[in-house]
Order: sequence, then structure tokens, then C-alpha cells
Amino acid sequence: MFDLIVKGGTLPDGRVADVGIRGDRIAAIGALGTDAARVIEATGDLVSPAFVDPHFHMDATLSYGLPRVNASGTLLEGIRLWGELKEIVTVEAMVERALAYCDWAASMGLLAVRTHVDVCDDRLLGVEAMLAVREKVKGWMDLQLVAFPQDGLYRDPTARANLLRALDMGVDVVGGIPHFERTMADGAASVRDLCEIAADRGLPIDFHCDETDDPLSRHIETYAAEVLRTGLQGRAAAGHLTSMHSMDNYYVSKLLPLIADAGIAAIPNPLINIVLQGRHDSFPKRRGLTRVKEMQAMGITVGWGQDCVLDPWYSLGTADMLDVAFMGLHVAQMTHPDEMRRCFDMVTVENARIMGLDYGLREGAVASLVVLDAGHPVEALRLRPDRLCVIAKGQVVSEKARNDARLSLPGRPESVRRRHILPQR
Ligand SMILES: [Zn+2]
Repeated sequence: MFDLIVKGGTLPDGRVADVGIRGDRIAAIGALGTDAARVIEATGDLVSPAFVDPHFHMDATLSYGLPRVNASGTLLEGIRLWGELKEIVTVEAMVERALAYCDWAASMGLLAVRTHVDVCDDRLLGVEAMLAVREKVKGWMDLQLVAFPQDGLYRDPTARANLLRALDMGVDVVGGIPHFERTMADGAASVRDLCEIAADRGLPIDFHCDETDDPLSRHIETYAAEVLRTGLQGRAAAGHLTSMHSMDNYYVSKLLPLIADAGIAAIPNPLINIVLQGRHDSFPKRRGLTRVKEMQAMGITVGWGQDCVLDPWYSLGTADMLDVAFMGLHVAQMTHPDEMRRCFDMVTVENARIMGLDYGLREGAVASLVVLDAGHPVEALRLRPDRLCVIAKGQVVSEKARNDARLSLPGRPESVRRRHILPQR
């Protein structure tokens, strides 16, 4: 007897199987019958482990237009605008917006998020708000908090002390933004300092790193060397890495093996990188996305992050990690069938690895699943379809009725779903 059986779904690896759940765990996968308190019919539908977002800003989400919009569309105006918003924001407003976003995430099967929390505010209101949100959603969402010195660890006079206070309050991960310090030397010093803080406290580390079009922004090199020196291999991540797009190819041929040695995971954020980068270019305009396929070929873990939804940096967004992967697929030109398939893994299993989650479709793993109105992972990317059922830690948290279009065309079918059977390769 199971608490829940998801019946007859197609798993991402192509197997057709039932998934049996007891409590908050997957108890069995196979032909399981119907002996359960509840059976969810998933025949013909894709059953995937839940979506994971390893790079987000939940303290800023849903604040678009407050107190004004980003007119230039640049990263730097976004940071200035966020500074204006921080002056007027309240803990209650941040919690309310974040919880509204988490509702969206639940409906989209996005059940684990790593969010950077700005610590450049002596009151630490964002930290207070996000700790409250982490507590409120912990029954169904894994929310990891990163202590993020948005205005620069050294550029902001109290950022370093505030970062340490935030870690003392229970923030999970050490953050940084070396390319935003005043000088390259200050950036490198911040990398060394933060790696030592993470190593001393036994915490993961996750920087915004080289989010610029300047090919000489090479903090990732210092970061990799410091991760090796301080023993942080396997629990370090680097967001954005957009300068790598513009770097000299010879230099990159030396850099990528160093990143691989250091076990640093890369988190490009394609929705944001494609709109923020290249803003100082005339034509041709650089895309500004980091070298995704090239890093994967070196064995570096690469996930796709969402970064922003309706905030000072990005005026759109829906909490759909398939939108993120879809944009990444296009900008990185990951069009081979194996590459498209990998884009789905990047927003599921690879992002889960970056966050160190207990995760996956296997017996004993946490039962956080999503049933999609698609036949297979690449079709899910193509359609970005409805989430028919979302199960979080064993509980159904969101359901949506299938919603086929009804046609009125002479001699044609009465409804259409836009599914397509692929020829066997
Ligand atoms: Zn970010």
C-alpha cells in the first residue's frame, strides 16, 4: 500500500513506469498496480523529478516598476535601481512578494531554489525576510540562501561585517561579486577572503563572477586557484561568467582545465545574460552567454539559472525553468538531440547536483516530481507545457486540468495538443 502512485508515466530516460510514494519518499518504481490512497493517472505524460533553480534573487522578485523601471536595460542601472528600492522596502513586502513567487514556482514544478540575498543593508531586512520565507516554504520547497554583497565586499564599507552577520543568522552559502569591486586587485582580494570564510565555516560558495563583457575580467581564474588552495572543490559555483564569451581563445584553453580541476560548477543565466550583455556594443553585438558546450566538454558541471523575475534587471519571467532552458538552448546553439536533452537535465539533475540536493527518480529519494503535458524531455522544452500535477516531498501541491485546444476546422480533428512522435534514431 502506497500513499500515492503516479501511474504509467514516461520517465526522462524513456522508461514507462509507475512511481510509488510513501510519506515524503519514493518507495518503488516499476509495475506497481493501484494499491494506494490516491492514484494519479500519467499515461503518456512525462514524469520528471522537480525543476531546480540554482541562481535567483527572491528578495527582489515581483518588484518590477518599484520605484521606477530600468530605462537603459543595463546591469549597472539595475543595481542603482535596486539601491533606491532598498531604501523604501519593508520585510513584510519582501516576504509577501517572495511567497507569491513561491506559489508560482509550486504551480510550475520548481521545488528547489538557491537565492542570493543582498547583505548590503545594515538592517539586513532582506536576510530577515528570506529566512522567514525559507521557514514558511520548507515543507515543500528547498530554499538555499546565499549571503550576497551586491554593492561589493570592499566597495561597500559595511558589507563584509554584514555578510558575516548574515552567515551567523543561518544563511547557507557564501556569495561574492568580484567584478563589482573598485579594482581588479580588490576583486581578487575579495575572492581570497570569501574562500577562506567559506572554508573556515564549512559552507558552500557561489559567486556572481565576471558578469561583464570585459574580456580581461578574469576573476574566475583567481577563484579556481583559491578553491583549490582552500579545499572547496565540489562545493563552489560561479554564476554568469559572461566575460568568457569575449575572452581570447588561447587564454580560455588554459582556463577551462583549471575550472575543471577546481570542481567549480558554472551557472549561466540565459534570460538575463542575453538582455544585459552587449549593451555597450554597436554592431556586431555580442550575445554575452558564457561558453556552455565548451565547459561541458571539459567535464565541468553547467546548470541553467533563472536569476530574475519581474525585478530591476528583468521585466519578464514566469518561474518556468523550461523557459530558461529554452533560451539557453537557442543562445548556446545546443540544437543536437543530445544537447537539447542535456538542456532538460541542466534544469533538473545538474542544477540539483550544484545545490547538493537529495534528488532524483530512484527508490529512497525525496518524492518531488512533476507530471508534464509532454511525451519526453525535448518535447517539454519545445512546448513548455502545462504542469498537470506537482508533487512536493510526497504531497500534491498543484494540479491543472489538461487543456487541449478545441478546433472548428472542416474535416480536421476536434482537438489539438501539439504533441509529435519522434522518429526512432
Ligand atoms: Zn544574480
